[in-house]
Amino acid sequence: MNELIINGLSKTYANGVRALDDVSLTIPSGMFGLLGPNGAGKSTLMRTIATLQPADGGSITFGELDVLRQQHEVREILGYLPQAFGLYPTITGERLLDHLAILKGLINKAERQEVVSGLLQKTNLYHHRKKKLSTYSGGMKQRFGIAQALLGNPSLLIVDEPTAGLDPTERNRFYNLLSALGENRIVILSTHIVEDVKELCPQMAIIHQGRVLLQGNPLQTIDSLRGKIFRKFVNRENLEAYHQEYAVIAERRLQGKPLIHIYRDSAPGDGFEQVEADLNDVYFTQLLGAG
Ligand code: ADP
Repeated sequence: MNELIINGLSKTYANGVRALDDVSLTIPSGMFGLLGPNGAGKSTLMRTIATLQPADGGSITFGELDVLRQQHEVREILGYLPQAFGLYPTITGERLLDHLAILKGLINKAERQEVVSGLLQKTNLYHHRKKKLSTYSGGMKQRFGIAQALLGNPSLLIVDEPTAGLDPTERNRFYNLLSALGENRIVILSTHIVEDVKELCPQMAIIHQGRVLLQGNPLQTIDSLRGKIFRKFVNRENLEAYHQEYAVIAERRLQGKPLIHIYRDSAPGDGFEQVEADLNDVYFTQLLGAG
């Protein structure tokens, strides 16, 4: 199967923001997580891959396709679910999907009906197909977004922050749907939620201020921190002192008490205990290192 190869991609907006700074990534088939804080450049990267905006420099290839130049061909094999996905509220899910299928070139009615009902089933919306889109829950809207992105059976599927605002049950259902889709295509998922990547993605990249900080398999990146993450419950008034003294990668609360995680090559003593690293530690170590 084809890989998506991004090489030296850069983009500076007219206001001077450098949203992509020499981004190079190799994205294989399967789920690929793009993890980074808000403003990192994830949407810019995805819109560029989706042929919706030009880059200043660099290249993107997908097999034989030159993505930045062969926009028409790319759109034929691409599915895209943008971050803000507008729906026509007063029509039913089935009607909108049918309409979008016509736009996608599915002219034959019998064929189209088969595709539309197949996608509604796949996204667990078949029973809701006669309901107006305004009555759909957040999770249903996102699954509808996936249904429309799957028209034309794309080999490259891009979903931008799809789990924002979903409750745990909806998120879980959405995870199941996405991982099934990653079995025979590239699915690029952008998120600032570490949990999304941990659950779904055999490959990921962490990006920050337009740069790739790390690319790899989440479990291997966690492994590289083995024995280097320590935690301690601290008093609120001492927090600042700990920040001065240690590489504090995360500050959280466990049952109301401040708990810090630090990164260090060897045991610090001082009441710290070693903990198993997780993907959050990887993420925050990278962000801390990037300054
Ligand atoms: P992310 O998806 O990771 O939140 P974005 O790609 O949306 O990041 O944004 C990256 C940076 O580029 C941010 O600083 C953002 O404010 C800026 N940016 C995004 N789109 C535009 C635009 N159309 N014009 C100017 N600046 C933009």
